[in-house]
Amino acid sequence: MPGAATLLRDVFGFDAFRPGQEDIVMAVTNGENVLAIMPTGGGKSLCFQLPALLREGVTVVISPLIALMRDQVRALRAAGVEAGALTSGNTDEETEEVWQALDERRLKLLYIAPERLAAGSALGMLRRIGVSLIAVDEAHCVSQWGHDFRPDYLRIGELRRALNVPLAAFTATADAETRDEIVEKLFDGQAPQSFLHGFDRPNIHLSFAAKDSPRRQILEFADARKSQSGIVYCGTRAKTETLAKALREAGHNACHYHGGMEAEDRRIVEGRFNSEDELIVVATVAFGMGVDKPDIRWVAHADLPKSIESYYQEIGRAGRDGAPAETLTLFGADDIRLRRSQIDEGLAPPERRMADHGRLNALLGLAEALECRRVTLLGYFGETHGTCGNCDLCETPPETFDGTQAVRKALSAILRTDEWFGTGHLIDILTGNETDKVRARRHDQLPTFGVGRDIDRRGWQGVFRQMMGHDLVRPDPERHGALRMTEAARPILRDEQLITLRRDTLVSKSRRPAAKA
Ligand code: ADP
Repeated sequence: MPGAATLLRDVFGFDAFRPGQEDIVMAVTNGENVLAIMPTGGGKSLCFQLPALLREGVTVVISPLIALMRDQVRALRAAGVEAGALTSGNTDEETEEVWQALDERRLKLLYIAPERLAAGSALGMLRRIGVSLIAVDEAHCVSQWGHDFRPDYLRIGELRRALNVPLAAFTATADAETRDEIVEKLFDGQAPQSFLHGFDRPNIHLSFAAKDSPRRQILEFADARKSQSGIVYCGTRAKTETLAKALREAGHNACHYHGGMEAEDRRIVEGRFNSEDELIVVATVAFGMGVDKPDIRWVAHADLPKSIESYYQEIGRAGRDGAPAETLTLFGADDIRLRRSQIDEGLAPPERRMADHGRLNALLGLAEALECRRVTLLGYFGETHGTCGNCDLCETPPETFDGTQAVRKALSAILRTDEWFGTGHLIDILTGNETDKVRARRHDQLPTFGVGRDIDRRGWQGVFRQMMGHDLVRPDPERHGALRMTEAARPILRDEQLITLRRDTLVSKSRRPAAKA
């Protein structure tokens, strides 16, 4: 839908829709009556806030919780959206302001507490202000048998009839009786367009791998899937070109795609991809909107996506036909560093940057997960699921070990060098590698020098990557990416908390057979 993606990014600060959101946004914007059932935390508010901005006139939002309404209004205003609330919690001044914005036809979203609907004047007022949509949050409150029943919710059906505008109802309560009751009371028994689907895409195989030599890893993945159409997502435009070339040289039918190409060239690639059966497109995230191909058999990420939402959206392009599809996401310490610095160096306000770090952390948690990826992924979107049997971790559970001591040694190397160094130098210190830099800074004199000889360089790289993945350390852009400890690491440093790491990234020297006896 034109405009929706731009608003999503510019107003709400999200780089991708969450599962289910896009379809609901489209239906609501098109003026359908909608009943959407989404788990708590799934992102329901966006499903009426975004359409409110795309539609003419005012969207009236009915919500039972005053505190929640005020939070939403505050957040919308901070994002530059004209929103207001009429609740019993208002000061006279606030109410006056809302009225003025309504009179001037500026307001896009008007939040109303359900008890306001009981006042005789409410209907007249709502008639005058040009309401074009009613959104009902926590719609299960209309159910007389539920424990959240709010008698005032029963007036909403009346309101819809009187205003004769579309209504979108949202709830996390999925049982059939409640749904039927919502349809009866809010929609007069006329079935609205309903959205109740789980977020799971069971035919998509999920797998992640630590980035080792990405070109080789992607080539091997593609070689094992000869003559199937797939997408490789890359972090940069330049990489799409070099990787597409490498794939062609290896005998694949491959081309690149990115936002820097002429519109005509991009259309040609989209057209070829939709019509050819065996094409691999190596692309930036710019590739996707114009793609509607049900039989994409695989999606690979040569670089870590931006957030868990982007990840879900990108892998979700595979296997729309329901037949088995496969995915591989590569990630390494450099990806984490890059994504963190993109957030830190962006122009977003501090709260949004914090939220962006949180969403990146969620993706890293998925990348470094120790058990079923689907459980972790769907859990993030509020859905519970049993272990799936269709991800790399279900197939080959990782060997884990108590990484507490290794992490404490690494933290100690960081702190004893005043948080001024990056992974390479820290590993030199831990493994007792006397480089010129180590000697020049007298780091061979530190008590930490050589305390990590039991683990080799690669092993330490894995430990540092996992530490970044668990957000125990963060690269500081103002110190050329030097690693700094976060608050989350403190309990481990104090020996109050244990941490489990994956063995596969740790190659312990002492476990190898000795070269010379
Ligand atoms: P619900 O009402 O379904 O419980 P909310 O609308 O409050 O959920 O959203 C839950 C969280 O998800 C909020 O922090 C919101 O900022 C975030 N969120 C919603 N949509 C997206 C998206 N597309 N990308 C990233 N975060 C999102």
